[in-house]
Amino acid sequence: MPDILDTEIKFLAGVGPKRSELLKKELDITTFRDLLYYFPYKYIDRTRFYKISELDPEMPYVQVRGFIDGFQTEGGGRNKRLSAIFRDDTGSIKLVWFKGLKWIIDSYKINKEYIIFGKPGLFNETINIVHPEIEDPEQLEKRIISNIQAQYSTTEKLKNNYITSKTIYKLQSNLFSQLRTRVKDTLPSWMREKYRLMNLHDALFITHFPNDNKDLERARFRLKLEELFYIQLSLLSLKIHRGNRFKGYVFGIVGEKFNEFYSRNLPFSLTGAQKRVMKEIRKDLGSGKQMNRLLQGDVGSGKTLIALMSMLIAIDNGYQACLMAPTEILTIQHYNTVSDMLRGIDIELCLLTGSTKKSERERIATGLENGTIKIIIGTHALIEETVQFNKLGLAIIDEQHRFGVAQRASLWKKDRNPPHVLVMTATPIPRTLAMTLYGDLDVSVIDELPPGRKPVKTIHFTDSARLRVFGFMKEQIKAGQQIYIVYPLIKESEKMDYKDLEDGVEAITRAFPPPRYVISVVHGKMKSRDKDLSMRLFTTGKAHILIATTVIEVGVDVPNASVMIIESAERFGLSQLHQLRGRVGRGAKQSYCVLMSSDKLSNEARKRIETMVSSNDGFEIAEADLRLRGPGDLEGTRQSGIGFDLKIASLGKDGQILEYARRIAEEILEEDPLLKNPDNHILTEQLSRLKKTEYDWSKIS
Ligand code: ADP
Ligand code: MG
Repeated sequence: MPDILDTEIKFLAGVGPKRSELLKKELDITTFRDLLYYFPYKYIDRTRFYKISELDPEMPYVQVRGFIDGFQTEGGGRNKRLSAIFRDDTGSIKLVWFKGLKWIIDSYKINKEYIIFGKPGLFNETINIVHPEIEDPEQLEKRIISNIQAQYSTTEKLKNNYITSKTIYKLQSNLFSQLRTRVKDTLPSWMREKYRLMNLHDALFITHFPNDNKDLERARFRLKLEELFYIQLSLLSLKIHRGNRFKGYVFGIVGEKFNEFYSRNLPFSLTGAQKRVMKEIRKDLGSGKQMNRLLQGDVGSGKTLIALMSMLIAIDNGYQACLMAPTEILTIQHYNTVSDMLRGIDIELCLLTGSTKKSERERIATGLENGTIKIIIGTHALIEETVQFNKLGLAIIDEQHRFGVAQRASLWKKDRNPPHVLVMTATPIPRTLAMTLYGDLDVSVIDELPPGRKPVKTIHFTDSARLRVFGFMKEQIKAGQQIYIVYPLIKESEKMDYKDLEDGVEAITRAFPPPRYVISVVHGKMKSRDKDLSMRLFTTGKAHILIATTVIEVGVDVPNASVMIIESAERFGLSQLHQLRGRVGRGAKQSYCVLMSSDKLSNEARKRIETMVSSNDGFEIAEADLRLRGPGDLEGTRQSGIGFDLKIASLGKDGQILEYARRIAEEILEEDPLLKNPDNHILTEQLSRLKKTEYDWSKIS
């Protein structure tokens, strides 16, 4: 029997062909189910009536009982408006309309009691409500089916076509009356009993038509839990399936090269966190299962070393290893670091980027195929060239958010056993988000910086303080330090951004004239050879100032650079600001991050800047970012194309529910790893339905 929820929305009372087109285009609603799962974004308590003397313009929506004293038209032409004095026994306010004036005058009677509903504002020192909803109390008693009224978000286009929050509310009510049976549950009954969850039909109904807050909480809890639960169940089953399908290469020994490096070349001792993470990785590598591990560590926490040691283990066990990074600059830097660290140890190491010469490529191809090259460090070129490994045992991917998921998988041939995979990221991901994005990976965290680092001091200046900033820069240069200046580069305003950069270069050159000062410039429009030259000028300490667009965002390591100046800081996201700040504070000297902005800041921009000034902790910043912007917006998730389509739960706010959901999923899979138990058939059914629609979670790995 077909499910009534699959019915096309145009068959719903109140929705014709035109509305159904609009609903589809604007809200992606095509079926009854889509509408049912289009949840209110907030609720308004309509049990509470305010007295006029209680109103103040800061209040959100209010409702008031009272009388209209008479209408008056004001202004003329486009400014023409209708106003009315509305009073109760405590005072009066003004109601204002800009549209439908005649209809208003005809519809409402003077000195009859009405209930008005709207958002108070302030105009000419008096409180007013623009375009209030007006209801006849007698009608109201008959019509309202819930005291707490759901509000649905709509778009400008919908509103222009008279599909308002109220319209959607009515459609929801039509939908429920058109359902002839209760909505079939999507969680098994044993689960609802065990975890005391409301049934689906009631949960949906109450979410749209709540009567009291307690029930509403329970209804929303059930829906949020379910939403998060299925994501976790899907990710965790993916992990189980992968574990069953692939055997991991067993790296049983820690051998010669590793020990040689550890005892002779390691210039410092590992931090406690690095030791712990190495243990976790070694355990994976020796387990006989394929490793799929995410290594998170704030900028400067020493992930490169972990990568190197893991690669040495692979080599000691007779395998090859690769390290892939997102930009040429970063790749070269990794190559230099690793060659440095391996000095005097006999391991063939090579570098492959887009600018590698043809003859060198051919040499590399041969070396990889016959197995003489043990470690290759490269950019996307690693994937694009049909690089054939002799025996690839470990693939490490740095700053993974720049890599598409499919790209990751194309590192190895489909018919072969995949290598162990270690994904490293400096984008601190809040736990809740990590559980969702990488729920199928094991996670290691380096939560400790190498000793002796001084926290970076962050200061906010507006443009008017520029001269002071120049003075400060001169002092720092005199003390032998180097300085980054970074300009935003946003696709949509690329032209203007380059103009800003050029103006900036000019102004800086005037303030820091050659030959006394050396300035180097790097941006995305330069040829990669020129970029490298400019970069090298700075990394070798010859340039005092590096002016750049965000190409330096990821991974560049110049310990002598102690000042990071970020222009138009208000235009950067929090995690980007944090990444940029991470470029300094790597040496022993006190470092500074200067955030330059205009005087006028939006609330959100101000909060971002305040967060940066007050915290150095990447995870704290990531949590703030998640709260401020919501997960769909987080850098990285967007870039990798993993869209979130959570309909009711919020990763920022429902972290606890998420943890609970994950525990439940774990419990279930522990008892029934392949979900073969007939009691669980609803789960498998629902999983495959979700896979077909919203979340293609399998893409993640
Ligand atoms: P990440 O890639 O995590 O941002 P890096 O691997 O580039 O960080 O390390 C940052 C700096 O810290 C490097 O100069 C590195 O040599 C140094 N470093 C790494 N581990 C340690 C340690 N245990 N003690 C001292 N310095 C370390
Ligand atoms: Mg790094």
